[in-house]
Amino acid sequence: MRLGLDLGGTKTEIIALDDMGHELLRRRVPTSRNYEGTLKTIAELVAGAESELGAKGSVGLAIPGTISRLTGLAKNANSSWLNGKPFARDLETVLSRPVRTANDANCFALSEATDGAGKGSDVVFGVILGTGTGGGVVVRGQVLEGAHGIAGEWGHNPLPGMTMEEWAEVEPCYCGGRGCIEQWLSGPGLSADFKRKTGFTWNAEKIATSSEADAHAALARWMERMGRALASIMNILDPDAVVLGGGLSNVDAVYRDLPRLVERHGFCPETPPRILRNVHGDSSGVRGAAWLWPAGMN
Ligand SMILES: [Zn+2]
Repeated sequence: MRLGLDLGGTKTEIIALDDMGHELLRRRVPTSRNYEGTLKTIAELVAGAESELGAKGSVGLAIPGTISRLTGLAKNANSSWLNGKPFARDLETVLSRPVRTANDANCFALSEATDGAGKGSDVVFGVILGTGTGGGVVVRGQVLEGAHGIAGEWGHNPLPGMTMEEWAEVEPCYCGGRGCIEQWLSGPGLSADFKRKTGFTWNAEKIATSSEADAHAALARWMERMGRALASIMNILDPDAVVLGGGLSNVDAVYRDLPRLVERHGFCPETPPRILRNVHGDSSGVRGAAWLWPAGMN
């Protein structure tokens, strides 16, 4: 049995999966907003699930940040009470077993690669288009972490092929860069682009679902930029499938129009890339966390 946990900003969720990926149990509790409380919450969720199901499981955890490979300490977590703490090590002590952790985008990619839209694909690039533009890479069923744990994090690469107009209109990014992919392709990025052109403050969902010409134009710009950004990924990684998640993955036109836009900017592709809508939606965090222990390893 595999247990996966997703440590969200407001809720902490646990799921139990059998070997086929069938859900045996799912529970949600409020996230504790301090370090000791977080460890306690996770220990209680695991103990509760195991006593209810009468079996012991492997434990994987989706965290809103990363564990530094250099120091073993959590960093970049927006649940800031985890930062600087030996979170993975303390969890292993509390749970008396090895624990695997990965960030939300990596868990999304793993969930979709294992038994979601990217099932059967050797290399999957998963992208979450929401408040940010998280990305993760899965190769033959395993998350590719990279030497510094940032593999797949494309959001703060500059948007390829920016025009003079784009350079002039985009603000500096909080990361110190300017014209980062996240500044264009995230929900807030689409919203900011629309505001610059029209003066109106609309959220991404409203823009994506509106029938007004200004909204259509903004979505077309967003899609063309997405084509540029993904083409650079294709040239390096050449994934068998790109799976999209997050709010903007619900835009139907993406699956119709984006492949040829990527093809236009890519280096000599023979066929358009496979760009797929996610299957597991909001469950990708817990499911991917559970699959951090692949077949034959739990
Ligand atoms: Zn940036």
